Amino acid sequence: MATMKALVCRECGKEYPTKAIHVCEMCFGPLEVKYNYEEIKKGISRKKIQDGPHSIWRYADLLPVEGPAFLGPHAGMTPLVHAKNLGAYLGLDELYIKNDTVNHPTLSFKDRVVAVAITRARELGFETIACASTGNLANSVAAHAAAAGMRAYVFIRSKAITTTSIASAAR
Ligand SMILES: [Zn+2]
Repeated sequence: MATMKALVCRECGKEYPTKAIHVCEMCFGPLEVKYNYEEIKKGISRKKIQDGPHSIWRYADLLPVEGPAFLGPHAGMTPLVHAKNLGAYLGLDELYIKNDTVNHPTLSFKDRVVAVAITRARELGFETIACASTGNLANSVAAHAAAAGMRAYVFIRSKAITTTSIASAAR
């Protein structure tokens, strides 16, 4: 695919190669992917997307990976649910709500980004994944790392104590 052109700083515009860096060395601004849209245009079409897999990977030409899909065969393509009652209340005949609670494997919208991120991490040669999270992201990272055979570390604030852990500590 190789549709990524560079990483570019959102603050100062400095460009970097598509390596494992996430902040600008000049201003600490966040880096975003700059895509090679001229190249993408040559190979992408509505038909190609429609004929693609029933997952986020039908949009692979527009995702920040270079190789084939490795994870997330059931992430994305979540259904639109016709919200008749809410639509009537709001005066809208055609109101649909995206049900992103049916992503796989963790029933979270985070499954989309984590599938792509870990696929890219593998391309870059990483064997360990880590994140800071108190919920959905942690679950998704752990599940995808397990599927990929990678180690996962989740960092949680020491004050993020649940009622369950308080009850356990009180015993
Ligand atoms: Zn910068």
